[in-house]
This record gives sequence, structure tokens and C-alpha cells, in this order.
Amino acid sequence: MSYTGSNSGPVDPFGASDPFGPPPPRRSPLRRPLTLALAVLVPGALLGWLAFETLGGTGNGGSDGGGGADRVAGAGAGASAGAGVLDPTPAGGNEKPGTLTASPSETAAGLAGKVVVIDPGHNPSNVEHTAEINRKVDIGTNRKECDTTGTSTNSGYSEAEFTLDVAHRLRTLLQQQGATVKLTQDSDRPFGPCVDERARIGNTAHADAVVSIHADGAGAGQRGFHVILPGAVHEGIADNRGIVAPSKDLGKLIAGDFARTTGTSPSNYVGDGTGLVTREDLGGLNLSTVPKVFIECGNMRDTKDAALLTSSAWRQQAARGISEGIVSFLRG
Ligand code: ZN
Repeated sequence: MSYTGSNSGPVDPFGASDPFGPPPPRRSPLRRPLTLALAVLVPGALLGWLAFETLGGTGNGGSDGGGGADRVAGAGAGASAGAGVLDPTPAGGNEKPGTLTASPSETAAGLAGKVVVIDPGHNPSNVEHTAEINRKVDIGTNRKECDTTGTSTNSGYSEAEFTLDVAHRLRTLLQQQGATVKLTQDSDRPFGPCVDERARIGNTAHADAVVSIHADGAGAGQRGFHVILPGAVHEGIADNRGIVAPSKDLGKLIAGDFARTTGTSPSNYVGDGTGLVTREDLGGLNLSTVPKVFIECGNMRDTKDAALLTSSAWRQQAARGISEGIVSFLRG
């Protein structure tokens, strides 16, 4: 779940601290073009995937466990849909579609000198530290909870487990490209970090890109992934205006690659089918001074999405999609 300050969201069995309400379902007029575009890309992607598999690039590791980014509460929560049509050949200007399916041998060490910070949403131990994570922190526009417990599937697979698992897979993939990778947390602290510290970690690391990994806690039937882009915020301690444009580039690349590698569709409940949502209410984005996006990989509360999120093979595909988007972004 994402960090929303609103309490208008649906009841999250995992705690009142995670108030993400599913937004009203919307049909997107943009889905058809996306579907067509994906149909064109899929054969190429499949070939790339086969090549990658042949080279042993995929390793399904890790056990099930948790994940999740949160959902925007209600229809509001500062979410503005339609940040742009998801571009299947990501990167309107800088993309190089050919590199998206490049084999490891083609890209090895391509990210030497680049720093990527991965922010696994929530923390498996947050649930034992509700007092601490409910403490309010300054996010520029207002004060919000330090962190939240996150959501879980109906069978109890927690978002926090999921985010760590995908983060580990993503770290491995990026390190194989030569990148320096840092996690904001690795279940190595009793709770948090708070959202302001999560942002600070990326800033202090002078990260070239930061991705915050989540899975949503929306209603049954609400499916698909979406990438959350920072809206411009210049208020109080927050001034993220310098990262809005590059973060949008990063987010579009990740969304395109995530759709391709996982074969899943953009959210059917936010973003008008683009897979992109812009928000100004998330501390992790408001306080970032380096390119950063969130990704809600799916809806843990929908049984079909949950079947994907709890699959280690699917999580590997998810990590690969995110990794390829980051690689494309960093290579310009
Ligand atoms: Zn979350």
C-alpha cells in the first residue's frame, strides 16, 4: 500500500494505519491502443525472454512473502490519473526498445558507477510497532504516519514480505548489470524506516534512480499494476520539482517493461488504463531529490492478482520488468 493520509479507504485488516481505499472502477479508453501495442511487442519480448532463460538469467528464488504498495484512498488523495499513456516501447525519447530484451551478455556491467536505491515498502515487523509507525512525520504538504503495516492477501501473505522478496530479486538483477544497489530496509530494523527517512536514504546516496515497491490493498475485481509518479510539490520542507520530469520518464519505462515481462495489464481502477498515476501526497516522493517512483505490482485483495503475487516465478518476472525499466532509464 502506498502511504496515504486519508482514512477514506477500505478497511485494511492489517491495520487502520494503512488507509487505502480503492478508487471507483474506471474503464479506460486508452486500453485498446495499449493492448494492440503490446500485441505487437509480445513476440519480440518472448524471444528475448527465451534467450534470457536459455542463458540462465532467471532464477526463481525466494519464498512467498509479502509485498505491496498501497492504493490511493477513495477517488481523491491527491491522485491524478492519466499521467500519460503507457508507452509499450517505453521512453518516448530515449528508449531503445532493443535493449529491453537484451541478453545479460549485452548489458553486463552497463550500469557501473550507477547507484540504485530500492525501497521495499513497509517492514514485516511494523505490525509489532504500531505506536512507532503511527508517529507523524513532516512530508512538506502535511504530516503523515511514519510508516504503515501494509496489506496482505486474503491467505495472509503480507505486502512487506512481498516487497522484500521482489527487492532481493531486483537487487540481484541490477547488480548483474554492474549497478551499486542499496535497500532502504532489509527487515534488519524493528520498524520502518519512516517515509521521510526512506526519501532521505535515496537522496543521501545520490541515487540515479529509486523505486519503491508495493502491492495494493484494493477491492476484489480491481486488478493490475500501476506506477506512481511524483507530482510537483514545493511546500514546507518539500521541493521535488526537479525530479518530476525524470521520474516520469523512469516510471513510463518501468510500466512498459513490467507489462511486457509479467504479461499483466495496467490497473483497471486507477490511471485510466495507462498504468500511471501522479500523486502529491506521498512523503517518499514529496521529499525525494532524486528520480523516484512507486510501483504497485498488483492488488493483494483480488484473488486473481494474489495468485500472481504469491508466485515466485511471477515475482521474478516482476523484478525483471522493473530492472529493465531502470536499465533503460539509466542508459538514457
Ligand atoms: Zn504499500
